[in-house]
Amino acid sequence: MPTYTAPVKDMQFLLHNVLKVTGSDTPGYSDLDEGFTAAVLEEAGKVASDVLAPLNAVGDREGCVLENGVVRTPKGFDAAFKAMKDGGWTALDCDPEYGGQGLPYLMGSAVGEIFVSANMAFNMYQGLTHGAYSAIHTHGTEDQKATYLPKLVSCDWTGTMNLTEPHCGTDLGLMRTKAEPQEDGSYLITGQKIFISAGEHDLAENIIHLVLAKAPGGGEGSKGISLFIVPKVLVNEDGSLGARNSLSCGKIEEKMGIHGNATCVMNYDGARGWLLGDLHKGMRAMFTMMNEARLGVGLQGYAQAEAAYQNALAYAKDRLQGRAVTGAENPSGPADPLIVHPDIRRNLMEQKSFVEGARALTFWAAHLIDRSVRQGDAAAEGLVSLMIPVIKGFQTDKGFDMAVQAQQVFGGHGYIEEWGMSQFARDARIAMIYEGANGVQALDLVGRKLAQDGGKHVMAFFEMVKAECKAHDGDDRMTGFAEPLKVASKQLQQAGMFFMQSGMKNPNAALSGSYDFMHLMGHVCLGLMWTRMAKAAYEALDAGHADRDYLEAKIATGRFYMARQLPACAMHLARIESGAETVMALPAEAF
Ligand SMILES: Cc1cc2nc3c(=O)[nH]c(=O)nc-3n(C[C@H](O)[C@H](O)[C@H](O)COP(=O)(O)OP(=O)(O)OC[C@H]3O[C@@H](n4cnc5c(N)ncnc54)[C@H](O)[C@@H]3O)c2cc1C
Repeated sequence: MPTYTAPVKDMQFLLHNVLKVTGSDTPGYSDLDEGFTAAVLEEAGKVASDVLAPLNAVGDREGCVLENGVVRTPKGFDAAFKAMKDGGWTALDCDPEYGGQGLPYLMGSAVGEIFVSANMAFNMYQGLTHGAYSAIHTHGTEDQKATYLPKLVSCDWTGTMNLTEPHCGTDLGLMRTKAEPQEDGSYLITGQKIFISAGEHDLAENIIHLVLAKAPGGGEGSKGISLFIVPKVLVNEDGSLGARNSLSCGKIEEKMGIHGNATCVMNYDGARGWLLGDLHKGMRAMFTMMNEARLGVGLQGYAQAEAAYQNALAYAKDRLQGRAVTGAENPSGPADPLIVHPDIRRNLMEQKSFVEGARALTFWAAHLIDRSVRQGDAAAEGLVSLMIPVIKGFQTDKGFDMAVQAQQVFGGHGYIEEWGMSQFARDARIAMIYEGANGVQALDLVGRKLAQDGGKHVMAFFEMVKAECKAHDGDDRMTGFAEPLKVASKQLQQAGMFFMQSGMKNPNAALSGSYDFMHLMGHVCLGLMWTRMAKAAYEALDAGHADRDYLEAKIATGRFYMARQLPACAMHLARIESGAETVMALPAEAF
């Protein structure tokens, strides 16, 4: 069965050598000294390896069961959830006013990666709760915050987000769920939501559903939608639990992966709900949750790839097959280990260089969120909003690809459930679909984010990459990083110019290239991260850092990414510049 060890050394390198957190003026960062972050990450690593990872296969095998309206989670989930709560892990980056520990979002993300790698389905119960916490924290009244936040922070109550309906997924304007205003200021919610993650389960005494619905007077389309807090069990004035609300789980879905997380059809039959945020501005409030959720899903992409990679690496060192072409490396044994073969090396390097690059990008984005939330840094907010569709779309596509590549290292054993490698691929697959399918992320990037605020944020990104390349002019050690990054960044700009010039004449031209643009930008982002990591590694080597092997491996892995992965940018640009003609050539009936 697969095992998992938290990559604490790599995380520490990012926090202290790349992001240099203690030297940052971001509020709360000065407390994050090396000893403190190591202690938190190592402790999280123990919970992940000892408690969560052993339950990953159990959750996959047993799944959730719906009996008489009650969902039973897999054996052991209840005790593990209690351990997470008792250990204070659910409260890590929450507001101390409501029982949180007040650590930066960056630390929450690092710990989140560890838990997601160990058991993605299990961690979703807490992840969605954190999303509900953020939406109420940002948009709730004082009363709503006092009522719900302490319970969500402790995970005594969990949260959900309810957007999807049977006929309405991407196009939320088609929504039918209704909210009827009542004299006491509450609303009665009626409608059906489907695919609701953690919609019903036995891990918490209450579930706080955040539900999108249409209230009278909002008009057509997605603009008139409002967001409501709809508790499973109504909460009395004194905070105690009262009667059951009129809502129920009608069915749980049989699905490809994340079996340990209940995906529910939720029926709202005149359930009592309370408006969260402004009337008819529910999409804005929901976006608070969705941005965080999309970053969290991008994290799921590489976190699954990390867990799969660790096991593929161990297998490649252990399994004896064939001989190295350059001469036996294990002459006393019947054959050499798989890892001697160049194609296995290529496979492992693709996994390693993606995972480490994606981790750096995710940590950087989390750092930008801290700057935006804790410091009101508008430039950071603009930049992270530009990055979110890239992080979500690119990292989950690649995360799935890498989980499949890890499976490939196992040969036929990778296809056999007993070895556990297929679960990584099956679990990683959903991250490409939910929180807005990846095609829609690409649309968001090209159709909205590039032009946002007059294109200010994408221009800032280009300037940042340019400055990074320029900073290494004349530094021979960095040529293998700065030069390819310069080329890739020009290709990205050229693609942006193509959209500007051709998109006005033929919108299909931009949208036919949007997916390639998302991947092109993903590669440039990872190229930027590898350049920063290489610089930090050289600095640490120059300063006499003790772990030379780790730093030299870091630089070599970066060189691989720049030489072997970044050239994909040229292919994406060529596809983009070929326009819509070949994509749209066939009439629908000719397919
Ligand atoms: C396991 C699981 C858990 C989920 N959890 C939740 C949850 O907790 N809460 C919740 O509300 N929902 C949840 N969902 C729903 C999920 O977010 C949606 O399935 C997803 O947003 C896509 O919507 P859809 O399935 O209706 O696909 P559709 O909207 O029908 O899209 C189908 C395909 O068409 C593409 N497409 C759609 N519109 C366009 C367009 N304009 N241009 C180009 N391409 C387009 C999409 O990219 C997609 O590939 C979950 C789904 C699953 C499977």
